[in-house]
Amino acid sequence: MEDIRVGQGYDVHELGIGLPLYLCGVGIDSPVGCIAHSDGDVALHALCDAILGALAKGDIGHHFPDKDPAYKGIDSKILLSRVLDMMTEEGWRLGNVDITIALQTPKLAPFINKMRESVASVAGVDVSRISVKATTTEHLGFVGRGEGCEVWATVLIFQ
Ligand code: MG
Repeated sequence: MEDIRVGQGYDVHELGIGLPLYLCGVGIDSPVGCIAHSDGDVALHALCDAILGALAKGDIGHHFPDKDPAYKGIDSKILLSRVLDMMTEEGWRLGNVDITIALQTPKLAPFINKMRESVASVAGVDVSRISVKATTTEHLGFVGRGEGCEVWATVLIFQ
């Protein structure tokens, strides 16, 4: 190992009734979903920003502008793949990922392993390198009131 870098990413989306909810590329059974230009996968957006941060290559809005019709409704796994391509083109490999999702409801525990497998499959790494954690905010703040979903992601990359 010659070099290592860390990156962190953060994203928030407002929730709306009756919209689909995607987190880490997995469809979540939920009465609310993210309001967004893309598929609203707030967890993958935070992860993309973490990888871009490690690469010092700006943020997801710079690479995939939300005003661009090309990204309307896009599957965020495609955005993640493109960011991972930027990473591998420079010789970097993914060491590990740690994602924390703050959402008041629904409970995400039944989906955690599916979400880990989904990210591992897009990244082409063993699932043991991918951590996904979920928490409520004990009914406090905008997350606690069910108005939004907030996600933090940390990555380590190496070459
Ligand atoms: Mg976003």
